[in-house]
Amino acid sequence: MSGGPIGDRRQATPATHLVGLIGERLTASLTPLLHETEAARLGLEYEYRILDLIEMGRSPRDLEHLLGEAADEGFDAVNVTYPCKQLAFDLVDDVDHDAGRLRAVNLVLLREGRRVGYNTDWIGYRDGLRAGLPDASMERVVQAGCGGAGSATAYALLACGTRELQLTDVDDARAEALADELRALFPSSRVTTVFASELDVALAAASGVVNATPLGMAHHPGVAFDVDRVRPGTWVSDVVYRPLQTELIRRAIRRGLPVLDGGRMAVGQAFASLEIITGVRPDRQRMEGHFRGLVREETSAEEERA
Ligand code: NAD
Repeated sequence: MSGGPIGDRRQATPATHLVGLIGERLTASLTPLLHETEAARLGLEYEYRILDLIEMGRSPRDLEHLLGEAADEGFDAVNVTYPCKQLAFDLVDDVDHDAGRLRAVNLVLLREGRRVGYNTDWIGYRDGLRAGLPDASMERVVQAGCGGAGSATAYALLACGTRELQLTDVDDARAEALADELRALFPSSRVTTVFASELDVALAAASGVVNATPLGMAHHPGVAFDVDRVRPGTWVSDVVYRPLQTELIRRAIRRGLPVLDGGRMAVGQAFASLEIITGVRPDRQRMEGHFRGLVREETSAEEERA
């Protein structure tokens, strides 16, 4: 595939680490800048390329070929995002323990002809939760949204000791399927599903609530649940990070509730990927400051345009 859409490492500036991001609609991704800036600050030669399936005229079914081409062209690793995380799981030779349990891979190391899969999404959420809400009660957590991000946050919540996790999704079958998987993985926790009509009752009894739906994004305004229904002291977490101050986070702050915005998970995921790829520990605070600056700039530019 020399000279193909992935490009050829020999034509690029020599990089000790060459990394890609495979997925769809990636042009606005902040990941390349986040990785490259932190790697440069760590003194590493590091190049991160967007490999957008749509722009390359490729389909998710080409993922196996693309992974082969990336390895042939000298890529050390690729991050994999929507809609390829489950597909990537099926294509790795070896998988880290938690990615194997999640059956989803968002990082593939390409080493010595082998593909090794990891999942840093759940690590990003876990680390963000521990750092951002160290005193969070894990007694009973309600989570809305059971797609890609929701699988990772639910896994992290249970790995952090959530005693009862209540899942809800506009697609009830999705919530039930995720609950089934998680019950098998975490038999000592209780994992249940909640219909929309039961949500307010569940919220009133929750110690923490998580939004893992796209609601709150600049292009998906709104909230997935009414934060006024929760008890004082209940913590509120959002996976959406564009903007960082979603409607949900703003309402929770107005009520004086402890909050965790989606920036922590996004940075945590990039931090863990960069560390696994390079073997060098990045500076989490520095990455977080950089990331928050980038999102704020983007949000104010959007507000000015509106
Ligand atoms: P997805 O489409 O895989 O899943 C979203 C789920 O939410 C679907 O199951 C959908 O049915 C459900 N849903 C939508 N509206 C709902 C509502 N009102 N109530 C209940 N359920 C509802 O999407 P995804 O990849 O999981 O992404 C979700 C959001 O998470 C996006 O905004 C994305 O940008 C964000 N995200 C953040 C991070 C991070 O690092 N912070 C990582 C991944 C994704």
